[in-house]
Amino acid sequence: MKIPYVNLEAQWKEDEKELKPILLNILKKGQYIGGDEINEFEKKICKICGTKYAVALNSGTDALTLGLYLLGVKRGDEVITPPNSFISSTSSIVHIGAKPVFVDVLKDQNINPELIERAITKKTKAIMPVHLTGRIAEMNSIIKISKKYKIPIIEDAAQSIGSKYYGKKSGSFGSIGCFSAHPLKNLNGIGDGGFLTTNNFSFYKKAIMLRNHGQSERNIVKHFGYLSRMDTLQAAVLNFRIKKLNKIIEARRENADYYFKNIDENKYLLPREKKFQFNSYHTFVIQTKKRDKIIKYLKKNGIQTAIHYPVPIHLQPASKFLGYEKGSFPETEKQSREILTLPIHQNLTKKELSKIVKTLNNY
Ligand SMILES: *Cc1c(COP(=O)(O)O)cnc(C)c1O
Repeated sequence: MKIPYVNLEAQWKEDEKELKPILLNILKKGQYIGGDEINEFEKKICKICGTKYAVALNSGTDALTLGLYLLGVKRGDEVITPPNSFISSTSSIVHIGAKPVFVDVLKDQNINPELIERAITKKTKAIMPVHLTGRIAEMNSIIKISKKYKIPIIEDAAQSIGSKYYGKKSGSFGSIGCFSAHPLKNLNGIGDGGFLTTNNFSFYKKAIMLRNHGQSERNIVKHFGYLSRMDTLQAAVLNFRIKKLNKIIEARRENADYYFKNIDENKYLLPREKKFQFNSYHTFVIQTKKRDKIIKYLKKNGIQTAIHYPVPIHLQPASKFLGYEKGSFPETEKQSREILTLPIHQNLTKKELSKIVKTLNNY
């Protein structure tokens, strides 16, 4: 038995009958940019995220870039963020001309609020927590800091659609929430896609312009913008799949529950879900000192795993100019050696789950 880390073929098999006519209809109509599908998608996202506005974009990366632009982050400013994210949390900060200021993380892989306050300077213009694995960061403390210093929050919520914290929804905590609809995310398109959420009307209006070359109307350019629109085809796919999102998250939570009940916690560290959390399990990450050997052992047994992420951003060659070094963020670095992402997708069978657990516990 081979157990892949993701199984998009299984998803397509499940969707094929209903999704094919939807795709064909878009191709036939010939409206490939904009249209009703985009508006419908944005309305649905507002409901899911509990925000007044949503803007459909071409990627989570562009959601972060436009989000920083909307907050007025400029050359020379600083943005606080953790170093253990996907690269584009940081690259979006760099591309806007600002300086990423890293802050180490907690055992649960999310930014450590106690360290945020110490990293604030006169130049800090935004705090960007990342809700890694689909677990929302410690937002109560982060919001307190944000209010105390009047520094806005931009959430990297790319992994956390549908997640909650004290009942409040991912993407509704900060001034702007940034999401990805990449094929590997829980709400996934058939190519790149993303969106941002906000309760701020002027951010919303401006984001609509920015994604479309900065045009306020045809041939009138208010601000030099970007090309960051979501394709109509992606919106159509997402409108279809969004109906299944709750089920997808439920299936992932059931898989997580199985892992929590059955993986030997004397051998592996499992970051448990707290009472006030509702995690979407974009990924399921365990921690162990024997990580590299266990990956090989699992692979030998047909089980594919992943590491999110093996090289912390502050140790990437591209980050050299920032002046960080080995030892700058001990918890992040330790985790980069010990974290292991297990398959958790909604199409896993009970048999597959049981084999993964048995193999792990047998090691
Ligand atoms: C996926 C992801 C992104 C980027 O999203 P894209 O749609 O691939 O641009 C950003 N941050 C995090 C934490 C992600 O997981």
